[in-house]
Amino acid sequence: MSISFFSFVLPIFFPFYTIEDTGLIFFKETPNIVETKGGIVLYVDDYDYDWKTKNESYKVVTPCGNKDVININNVNAISDIDVLIDPGHGGGNHGTISNTGILEKNLNLSLAKLLSKELDSREISNLLLRKDDHNQRIWWRAKVAKALSPKLLISLHHNDGPNKKNSPIPGTDVYYQFESTEGQRAASLIYKEVFSLLSNFDSVGNWWSSKKPGVKYILTSEGDDFFGILRNTKGVTSLLLESAYLANPKEAVLLTDEGFKVKHAKAIANGIENFLYTNESGSGFIKQTKGQAKRKRTYLDYFITPCTDPRI
Ligand SMILES: [Zn+2]
Repeated sequence: MSISFFSFVLPIFFPFYTIEDTGLIFFKETPNIVETKGGIVLYVDDYDYDWKTKNESYKVVTPCGNKDVININNVNAISDIDVLIDPGHGGGNHGTISNTGILEKNLNLSLAKLLSKELDSREISNLLLRKDDHNQRIWWRAKVAKALSPKLLISLHHNDGPNKKNSPIPGTDVYYQFESTEGQRAASLIYKEVFSLLSNFDSVGNWWSSKKPGVKYILTSEGDDFFGILRNTKGVTSLLLESAYLANPKEAVLLTDEGFKVKHAKAIANGIENFLYTNESGSGFIKQTKGQAKRKRTYLDYFITPCTDPRI
């Protein structure tokens, strides 16, 4: 928020002029986050007023982390969001791929849209971090999350399976921030619903799974959360859901079925609703010690991975 000092002082000296007469912008609340008419989310750094053209604009940070300027009439301010939905990957970052060529980024997005619709129907305010196929830096997603401060950030993914093994039960993982008890509770409530839904589909037969599927965290060798979307959003309850295995041909058939996707979105929404409105806890929690599951942190997001901004 920025309140001009002149909004108080000038009217005292020029009491016969209205604000419109002066042509000045006296009182302007700058939003932290805006969305273009085309649905692109932008982080607002500052407000800018051109005295000559009277053009009002925002200096913004784009999804790839670049600086840009946009007219304030071309965006809507976003605030008071309960659930921020992050459809994992996007643009040149495909995520995993099924044996039939279905890209995880697209499946994540279609599930995210259904989840948003489902939350809307339950009057749970929500925002999609992307509504189409474009790149977003992880640190940028985290910056938006911290600025919006939702009650929950959920990053939607589907597993690929480099460490998979065959399993008689579905292998779904929900990662939470290792220090967050609320995150653990949210993760267990969502896990319970998604696992229970998947368990109804015997058609899959051989599921894939990690060694210890369930509700857990992974740490870096420095002892911080491994996933950037969890590590960089401290203060916001954040989860990363790896729903079943897109890389398993049998699971891919189920995961990409339109009817199943609607049920999948409803199951996630059930977990979210229980998190927001009850004190319940769910299931699937795996007891971990801080010495376990350490991985080396990578800096790909900052320096190496190419990122192409959407048109704004
Ligand atoms: Zn993914």
